[in-house]
Amino acid sequence: MQTLRCEVLVVGLGPGGSSASRVCAEAGLNVIGIDKKKSFGFPVQCAEFIPLPMASYARDEPVRIQRITGMKSFLPSGEVEFTDFRGLMIDRQEFDQALAQSAIQSGARLYSSAHLLSLRRDAKRAEAIIDREVVEIHFQYVVAADGPHSHVAHQLGLPSLKTVNTRQYTVDLLEPLDDTDIWLSDEFPGGYAWLFPKGDRANLGLGIDKRWGVDLKAALDNLHEKLVAQGRIGKSIHARTGGAIPVGGMREKLVCDEILFVGDAAGLTHPITGAGIAAAVVSGEHAAQAIVEKIEGNEDAFEEYDEEMREQYGPGLERAVAKRLWLEGQWHTQAAQQDEIMRAGWIAFHEYQNAPGAKRVKEMML
Ligand SMILES: Cc1cc2nc3c(=O)[nH]c(=O)nc-3n(C[C@H](O)[C@H](O)[C@H](O)COP(=O)(O)OP(=O)(O)OC[C@H]3O[C@@H](n4cnc5c(N)ncnc54)[C@H](O)[C@@H]3O)c2cc1C
Repeated sequence: MQTLRCEVLVVGLGPGGSSASRVCAEAGLNVIGIDKKKSFGFPVQCAEFIPLPMASYARDEPVRIQRITGMKSFLPSGEVEFTDFRGLMIDRQEFDQALAQSAIQSGARLYSSAHLLSLRRDAKRAEAIIDREVVEIHFQYVVAADGPHSHVAHQLGLPSLKTVNTRQYTVDLLEPLDDTDIWLSDEFPGGYAWLFPKGDRANLGLGIDKRWGVDLKAALDNLHEKLVAQGRIGKSIHARTGGAIPVGGMREKLVCDEILFVGDAAGLTHPITGAGIAAAVVSGEHAAQAIVEKIEGNEDAFEEYDEEMREQYGPGLERAVAKRLWLEGQWHTQAAQQDEIMRAGWIAFHEYQNAPGAKRVKEMML
């Protein structure tokens, strides 16, 4: 069996893993990154929106598609509210590939078609299939960036993350759009539906908590037909995707000995919006920096990484988890037909911070 050796093994090369690989490689560390996908960033499982502070990661043409100026939230009564909410629509495959390329240029050895099989933290060894060959990898540190169903977490015996399922079509956009459209409705319990523009195309998708037993395909087909009838989008479906989104908040610990969790694998995705690209990049960079500092002699670097992430993301994630719990009591009841309930459960409205339900949310958090 072939043996590879590195200081840092990065498992999963989405935005979190590629960012971590780049920062470690820039510091001169010997980095191996593996991803089971045949090509970095493909297939795309994303609605492809990033918030404006991430714009510096999407400067170039193939990555940046268009600007977003706001968000339109469609409420059960038919009322529509516009919120100033700036960001960018990106080509997610190009985005992931650009991050991976930049890690490679910094000296990281990244492998696609490379599947983690097992990991022994005491022996600091992993087994992976790389290009159909079983390979043993000796490491000192691991960045677990392997997404919502983290195999690293499974190997460590850590609990699985609570997730919501999604389904998305790419369709033609028949009228110009420079905002993100969001539908809040009892048709999408535990989630919402979206239409995000990408030039003359758009991503039309939805997320639903599977425990409500709603057929995602039927719900998406229904919305698709409605928007086709309104003349907003075309009938043809150019691409289909979907995937899991973690909605249970941050893992209890982001560090297990020499293994650091980042991005979706760490549970950093927002449990209400499902947004996780920014948190994956930020946590990937911070985890890598913590490894560099640890090697330089800062014994507390990993604890500091955990604390920093908890400080930065903890309050927002906790509020969102509590909101989800509160909403669970509303879905499929008369309350879910009311605009005020949907307003209280969605980040665009001030009621999200201070709303009917907020008191109960606070109580549940105590
Ligand atoms: C339909 C959908 C729409 C979304 N839309 C948005 C959006 O518009 N904006 C936003 O900010 N977020 C969005 N998200 C969330 C966002 O995609 C994630 O938060 C983000 O990808 C997290 O990055 P990551 O690097 O942590 O993990 P990922 O991007 O999930 O990368 C994990 C990588 O690990 C690899 N992997 C897994 N297991 C193994 C293994 N055993 N061996 C080797 N490799 C492995 C996978 O192949 C994958 O490439 C969406 C998610 C979905 C499903």
